[in-house]
Amino acid sequence: DDFVRPPQPLGTVGLKCKAVIAIAAGKGGVGKSTAATSLTIALKRAGSSVGLLDADVYGPSIPQLTGIRGRCAAGQGEKIEPMDFNGIPLMSIGYMIPPGEAVIWRGPMLHSAVTTFVRNTDWGELDYLIIDMPPGTGDIALSLSQLLPLTGSVIVCTPQEVALIDAVKAVGMFRKVKIPVIGLIENMSSFICPDCSKSYDIFGKGGAKEYAQQDGIPFLGEIPLNISLRQRGDAGKMVDNFDDETVGPYLERIAKSL
Ligand code: ADP
Repeated sequence: DDFVRPPQPLGTVGLKCKAVIAIAAGKGGVGKSTAATSLTIALKRAGSSVGLLDADVYGPSIPQLTGIRGRCAAGQGEKIEPMDFNGIPLMSIGYMIPPGEAVIWRGPMLHSAVTTFVRNTDWGELDYLIIDMPPGTGDIALSLSQLLPLTGSVIVCTPQEVALIDAVKAVGMFRKVKIPVIGLIENMSSFICPDCSKSYDIFGKGGAKEYAQQDGIPFLGEIPLNISLRQRGDAGKMVDNFDDETVGPYLERIAKSL
């Protein structure tokens, strides 16, 4: 019946976690899920206990990025057993619906589903729960940011001006619901040509950092635009990014500055 009841703010009920961090973006496609997965792996590698929840209900991409497929189930009154991603408990709406099937639930049902995942998944004891939020500042994202017991939010954007405008809106949304903005990540920053080592600023340069400085938001770092990173995402091998000198150090730096 959790799926039909109207959503209630969760508080910290039942969740043993020091920090619940929402990874959000002003719009889709800027690399929010990539950043959420990378940050989760980086925190785990640094020795923290961390869980990952894919709350991007209309476009759950965590099963793809992690390469963890399958279905989760729970008996009546039992906690949901999360998937295991290299020792990281992992939950996604993608594990509750048949593969390839679209989620056609309306807002309240989605809110219920996501809050149920937070409350009723057997997360164990966590230092961090990373939540990959739905993109944008629409109804779903806004309601979830109010319902989930968030410690803070991290906003992902690209250097492009249009993306930055949306990121500013996302910052505004979290401020409105009084959730601290922990920092900004700039994704798809410079592209270093693997052949000639020349750097190209395909989506522009420096705008996110400048905005963060102006607005007093910590700038957590940048992730370069990188072909291998995209290929590893498609192949469900995001962990391998950490063995790649052109990507890994950037991801480690972001986790450290969290
Ligand atoms: P969002 O969650 O914001 O919709 P995703 O993380 O799913 O975005 O990323 C969208 C696509 O862009 C994916 O195919 C992903 O592999 C790719 N991508 C994300 N960040 C980078 C990057 N820094 N370099 C290359 N490709 C990237």
